[in-house]
Amino acid sequence: MRAMIMDALAEPLEVREVAPPSAPAGGVVVEVHATGLCKSDWHAWVGHDDVALPHVPGHELAGTIVEVGEGVQRWGVGDRVTVPFVMGCGACEWCLGGNAQVCPDQQQPGFTQWGSFAERVVLRAADTNVVRIPDGVSFEAAAALGCRFATAYRALTGRARVQAGEWITVVGAGGVGLSAVMIGVALGARVIVVDRTPAALDAARRLGAEHTLIAGESDIAAAVHEITGGGSHVSVDAVGSAQTARDAVLSLRRRGRHVQIGLLPTDDGMTAMPMARVIAWELDLLGSHGMAAVDYPEMLSLIDSGALRPQELIERVIGLAEAATLLPRMDAASPAGMTMIDPRRP
Ligand SMILES: [Zn+2]
Ligand SMILES: [Zn+2]
Repeated sequence: MRAMIMDALAEPLEVREVAPPSAPAGGVVVEVHATGLCKSDWHAWVGHDDVALPHVPGHELAGTIVEVGEGVQRWGVGDRVTVPFVMGCGACEWCLGGNAQVCPDQQQPGFTQWGSFAERVVLRAADTNVVRIPDGVSFEAAAALGCRFATAYRALTGRARVQAGEWITVVGAGGVGLSAVMIGVALGARVIVVDRTPAALDAARRLGAEHTLIAGESDIAAAVHEITGGGSHVSVDAVGSAQTARDAVLSLRRRGRHVQIGLLPTDDGMTAMPMARVIAWELDLLGSHGMAAVDYPEMLSLIDSGALRPQELIERVIGLAEAATLLPRMDAASPAGMTMIDPRRP
């Protein structure tokens, strides 16, 4: 099969032929029809994750099952499927309790194993992790859920419990930020978006954001307090930096809820936070890490009905070779919206 191979950290990626995988016990092999290019792929490429080389990135995918391993009960060849980027073991207390997204024994395609920037990918513990795609939902829309849309969905529903009429401040209008805007608007919330680039803010306004603020031009927290009359109920840092996390937390009103989605890799694992404000105003600091397969059907039914339209966040569909040149630049020049890869393209 053709795959995008990472032979060394932070070196050019190469698209070449490698041996195709076969299905392990309990797992399936999926022919990849669509797979999203994400800043998390860039984090793996520079070495923020512990990947074994040579490596194949890619963790947001949808496709068709082409091989089924021994012991798999729920799946057959030809099924249209997707998968959360965190795959649980299927056997621990967290998986059995419906929280495979925090399984201590988790696998992540494109991180702990070869991923979906290839014609085929292996998905383990398929009965726990694989999700059926409704007939009315395209492979591209399903792959767009991958990590960013599903993470934004869970951040706003399962974690922050956003209510209609509440203010949400979303810092960062890339794939996950724009997903949060679309989902927030669908939940009846009023959304403020902060980003460095006017084009990203235009995209946010098209999705229903009421106010947009250019990062770096003014005091973000003060501007949000002014707009909302005391701060937003919910804040989301969809970028992942000390500055954006701080801006998001300080934009909250008393008893507000912050959800951290953007990854915050630092050498010692610590990030400064305005804890004096957190205590005095009783703020909640929440993390969100993907979404378990058992929680997908509710979100998929909202997509099937047209209430949520992740496919509208896709800006371009490209082949593996073009993706190999784009991935190393995801840090400096994260393109607006989502980039989808079709590995079957020449
Ligand atoms: Zn588990
Ligand atoms: Zn991702």
